[in-house]
Amino acid sequence: MKIILLGAPGAGKGTQAKRLAEKYDIPHVSTGDIFRANIKNQTPIGIVAKSYIDKGQLVPDEVTVEIVKQRLNEPDCQKGYLLDGFPRNVYQAEELDKISNVEKVIDIEVDFTKLLKRITGRRVCACGESYHVDFLEGKTECARCGGKLYQRADDNEATVNERLSVYQKQTAPLIDYYKKAGKLVVIDGDKAIDEVFEEIVNKLK
Ligand code: ADP
Ligand code: ADP
Ligand code: ZN
Repeated sequence: MKIILLGAPGAGKGTQAKRLAEKYDIPHVSTGDIFRANIKNQTPIGIVAKSYIDKGQLVPDEVTVEIVKQRLNEPDCQKGYLLDGFPRNVYQAEELDKISNVEKVIDIEVDFTKLLKRITGRRVCACGESYHVDFLEGKTECARCGGKLYQRADDNEATVNERLSVYQKQTAPLIDYYKKAGKLVVIDGDKAIDEVFEEIVNKLK
């Protein structure tokens, strides 16, 4: 199964990706997670990526596309993968088309007014799981792995507004791109996490 998860920042891509990757036993490939790991390890890619991520802008295509090409070439991706956060513009989608045949693109749609609250209340674990302060009841550790939860540096209001504007200008056109290719599956992301998951699984059948 070769799947892309599309959706605005905060739509729930990471949350669903983690569950879907487990259910279908395919790797979860998140460009955001790859960049954050590089930033943590202070690699050359991490240093470049950080300057863009801090501003809420896209990391340049030549860096991002290369990372994804390498990742999709690894043995575990040969049976399938779940791409989360890539592609984010038409150029990246075209480059992906050259190297792999994506089967379905799941567009998680959430009312735009809800996204700011979702993102500024997000708390994450290094294992990739996301939580929201509204449901944590004061807990500070990951329910999956016990890791310490933290807030992403780019999950502040100013950066989020820039990311939402970048999404509308650069990423939203992908909805049409994949609709034309006959690959688009639209999901109502305003529902509860479990309901969204169920809807995705049903539509993948
Ligand atoms: P994305 O990867 O699309 O940026 P996340 O999966 O990290 O989004 O989710 C963003 C925030 O919204 C997190 O705080 C997460 O716990 C919360 N969230 C995810 N899905 C839902 C949902 N269906 N309903 C309410 N909150 C959600
Ligand atoms: P979110 O789902 O909350 O937008 P991500 O973790 O997917 O967050 O991405 C965080 C940041 O990493 C983005 O704002 C962007 O700067 C960078 N990034 C992630 N994926 C890409 C991509 N495909 N192309 C360019 N930049 C990316
Ligand atoms: Zn964890």
